[in-house]
Amino acid sequence: MKRALIRFALGTVLGAVIAGMGFRAAPAFGYNLMGPKWNTNTVQYDKHTLSSSWQSVASFGASQWTNVSPSPFTWVSNNNSNNDITRAAIDGGGGTLAVTTVWYSGGTISRATIKFDSAENWYVGSSTPGSSQIDARAVSAHEFGHGAGIGHSSSGGCSSCPNRYTMCASYVVGSTCQRSLEADDRNALNALYP
Ligand SMILES: [Zn+2]
Repeated sequence: MKRALIRFALGTVLGAVIAGMGFRAAPAFGYNLMGPKWNTNTVQYDKHTLSSSWQSVASFGASQWTNVSPSPFTWVSNNNSNNDITRAAIDGGGGTLAVTTVWYSGGTISRATIKFDSAENWYVGSSTPGSSQIDARAVSAHEFGHGAGIGHSSSGGCSSCPNRYTMCASYVVGSTCQRSLEADDRNALNALYP
């Protein structure tokens, strides 16, 4: 069973959320970039309102991108950042698992927030989720990719586990296959922040 719609939204600097995606096509690759990017290689995020287990989930998602080589891009935890990582009601159980909202102007991202739907049947451990659970680490890795400016992959790498791309638009319930970045994911970050 696949759960579609790990959505993201693009917002303006005024905070009005705009529906839709506006990807820039990158035909030679599976990945897609949103368009706007940070004008720095070090971006902070604030996870301090989360429980300790969810803070670990956030740290995991951030570190997957920080660890990409050779890109110097780094997510850094800072409790004073307004790039808030939270749990919140989105649309009840099912449907959307999490939402990343990106604010930008003139091609530069100024803020990114991530909300994990509080109604889902999450697995927050680092081992194996149950067959009907949603692996929070996999979704976190996906959403932090959006926070860096990466869109959904459009490649055939979205068809199979275990090498399913992290930035595929849908999640396979009960799986961990999107926890680890694949070459397509790393290529996207390396292209944005060489
Ligand atoms: Zn997504």
